[in-house]
Amino acid sequence: MTSWRQVLPLAVALAAAAPASLEARAPVSITIVTPRGTARVPVTRDRHAGLLVPGGPLIRALAGTIRPGSPWVEVVVSRQSFRFLIGAPVFALNDRLEPLAGWATFVGDSLYLPLQFVTEVLPRVVAERFAWNPGQGSLVEGPPAARRQPVDTVERLPNGLLPGHVVTVDAGHGGVDPGNLGIYFPRGVNEKHVTLQMATLVQAELKRQGVRVVMTRTRDTLINLADRAGYCAQDCSLFVSLHVDALDARARKRYGEVRGFHTIIIGEENSEDADRVAAMENDALRYEVPRENESADGLDFILRNLQRNEYLRESARAAELVQASIDRVHTGENRGVRQSNILAVLNTARRPAILVEMGYSSNREDARLLLNRNSQKAIAAAIAEAVVSYLREYERRGGSPTAKAIR
Ligand SMILES: [Zn+2]
Repeated sequence: MTSWRQVLPLAVALAAAAPASLEARAPVSITIVTPRGTARVPVTRDRHAGLLVPGGPLIRALAGTIRPGSPWVEVVVSRQSFRFLIGAPVFALNDRLEPLAGWATFVGDSLYLPLQFVTEVLPRVVAERFAWNPGQGSLVEGPPAARRQPVDTVERLPNGLLPGHVVTVDAGHGGVDPGNLGIYFPRGVNEKHVTLQMATLVQAELKRQGVRVVMTRTRDTLINLADRAGYCAQDCSLFVSLHVDALDARARKRYGEVRGFHTIIIGEENSEDADRVAAMENDALRYEVPRENESADGLDFILRNLQRNEYLRESARAAELVQASIDRVHTGENRGVRQSNILAVLNTARRPAILVEMGYSSNREDARLLLNRNSQKAIAAAIAEAVVSYLREYERRGGSPTAKAIR
């Protein structure tokens, strides 16, 4: 386990990161309901730090205290100490580091805390005292019996989900990056075209099921690999990247026999096949415009590991559900769930994340399946169905959509 003390030296460099600039948008807010009264706290969105609430008013409403420091700020609520690392997606609870999807930051002299602290962290860590009510966008403080009623009155969707879930769907490749050229696709049709068609169908199906979808792209444009997973931030439950696999020309003899679908997650049990896919998908990096030094790399590494360990089980479960669901409609082989730790598009994920290879363009049958409108729709619906099942399980584990009230 990583102690927060270990990250401290590296964190100092990061704390000097550029200050947040809050986006001007229609004011939205959450409500803090306590035995002492009710307070409304505004929610703002920073392009990098995510959804934020002002620390002062929030902690006052919770009768807690803030001890400013650099680079750590300590917040005490219900005698629990939460240390937030300014400018990094992490907090320390007692001596344990935990990942966040966004981060605490200062705007001028004012401390802003991730909204996730209110919607997830407090209700989990101090469950006997706090509950998040997603339907009303309120944090309710009190003994469990007193809180039960408002939470239960949230109306569920026909599929059993609470309203307000957000999922990111990523159409692989785009713009100058065609992805694989599509050996058995018609001339001019490449992987990037099929992934966009499929992503659009998955989006429509999820929308029909009451799940809000953030698309990394809706047009033929290039999005850097490292930026894609960032679309799934604090208010997003799952990142789904869609791709089409292909054997390269050296394996031409096996085009006929290798077909089917598989899902990759970030993990340490690298399989040869997952690494082959990772190398192929990472190839998109060569189309990207390099940017200068992203952030302190040592800390990055520790944070990435934290996120991975935190979400490995969730990602694996989502991947299993997707495989089982596609299996019902795909005529190719179910090639299972694999792990790789070098897949660039998933490496920056701050949420559970999966990459689905929906078939092989180097196989005649798979190519036909991926281009036919009816089978496209069936595969997209299967992926959406698996996502809904995943969200249902996520709710059963105690997770809830951030809130429809704050959108
Ligand atoms: Zn791809």
